Amino acid sequence: KKASIGVTGLAVMGRNLARNLARHGHTVALHNRSGERTRELVERFGSEGEFVPAYSAQEFVDALERPRQIVIMVKAGAPTDAVIEEFAPLLERGDVIVDAGNAHFADTRRREAALRERGLHFVGTGVSGGEEGALHGPSIMPGGSAESYASLGPLLEDIAAKVDGTPCCAHIGPDGAGHFVKMVHNGIEYADMQLIAESFDLLRGALGLEPAQIADVFRTWNTGRLDSYLIEITAEVLAHTDAATGKPFVDVVADAAEQKGTGRWTVQIGLDLGIPISGIAEATFARSLSGHTGLRAATRGLAGPERTPLTGAAAERFADDVEQALYASKVVAYAQGFNQIQAGSAEYDWNIDLGAVASLWRGGCIIRAKFLDDIRAAYEAEPALPTLLTSGDFRKAVEDAQDAWRSVVSTAVRLGIPTPGFSTALAYYDALRADRLPAALVQGQRDYFGAHTYRRVDREGVFHTEWATEARAERPA
Ligand code: NDP
Repeated sequence: KKASIGVTGLAVMGRNLARNLARHGHTVALHNRSGERTRELVERFGSEGEFVPAYSAQEFVDALERPRQIVIMVKAGAPTDAVIEEFAPLLERGDVIVDAGNAHFADTRRREAALRERGLHFVGTGVSGGEEGALHGPSIMPGGSAESYASLGPLLEDIAAKVDGTPCCAHIGPDGAGHFVKMVHNGIEYADMQLIAESFDLLRGALGLEPAQIADVFRTWNTGRLDSYLIEITAEVLAHTDAATGKPFVDVVADAAEQKGTGRWTVQIGLDLGIPISGIAEATFARSLSGHTGLRAATRGLAGPERTPLTGAAAERFADDVEQALYASKVVAYAQGFNQIQAGSAEYDWNIDLGAVASLWRGGCIIRAKFLDDIRAAYEAEPALPTLLTSGDFRKAVEDAQDAWRSVVSTAVRLGIPTPGFSTALAYYDALRADRLPAALVQGQRDYFGAHTYRRVDREGVFHTEWATEARAERPA
């Protein structure tokens, strides 16, 4: 029997996607550069469904029914190009190559254009949920042509996570749209994680709570509007005790956060598109700062305020205030991320449905949360919403939270607890709602030193002031 789909690249992600497909009744051809992984998969998991192991590229291609659908799940970058070049010459017009690795969307656009010339469909697909998600139901973000989605979509929807019976998978848009959306997903994930980490630091620094007590606070939050996978796992991590030392696990882990690069891409593209994704940027920089051990060692003795824990009413209110600040900052981070998707969609003509994106992030992926259902509803009600911050329920929640938000940021500043995520989110909120910004002064400075000109609030046109002359006359530029 021929396979309806094939997976090449059988490390943890590819193996689990292949098993997920087989468990859903699809016959899956298997291939990996080194045959060992293929053999091992069949030996250990062969009973889970129908697999057709292949030990050469030709054998793999021959095992597939037409149009062939090949999922590549290898290390992103040059290996993906190598694997495409290995298979493309063996394929025929109309066959589909799916790249489910973490590719940069610009690479996906390049590959899609090149393969389209050769009559092949190339579907760059974001997959989120880690290895568990890949096996039990990830969130899947396929790009590529609508035509390829017609044959591929049903299989992907089969293996995706389901929320209220709806698969967490939908065609995002042409060429690199899927990988772009996956990239922003990861950027938002960085921001959300940073905000949660700052909440922990605040509860410890300002209240003197122990990690296990903070785990309980997070568990309580997880029954409310912050209910999410990230809050849930945070509570588990904080409640964990290191077996070797008996100390809280979080105290024996080196405090240098690593990254694989998708957060950095999100920030770079945010700059290219001119979209202020300051929450994602601060989260990415916070990880970077944490890893600068030399710089941190050199500055350790710099003076700071006394960290006297809060007492009385302020202490009693504090956990609730942090919950509100976290919620408001989170709305800002997601609002920024969705604006970036909106901008990417406009730049590349992807026509991305933001409500559908929120919907397929409700399950399977790392940022899955009840919250995303509210975002879905906001964009369904108003697809061209300028920002989530002005959408009815979010607007009210953030406005209601602002006193607590300001109070938490002031406490952090007073006690010297770094909260770049909370602070930048609040600054974004205040900047957006401001009647006037000091950008007017920046324009004056630019005109002074570089004759960069300015526009006026009261008249049409572009102007320049003769700063070097006594008269400082203004003239149209
Ligand atoms: P790795 O990223 O560790 O990649 C290992 C796989 O790539 C192996 O099958 C390896 O083959 C193959 N490979 C590497 N170089 C080449 C090459 N030049 N030619 C052919 N094959 C090559 O595997 P993961 O399963 O962790 O991830 C796969 C993809 O999924 C990556 O793009 C990753 O970014 C993405 N991803 C990972 C997630 C995760 O949680 N790990 C989550 C979401 C996406 P061999 O066995 O022969 O060495």
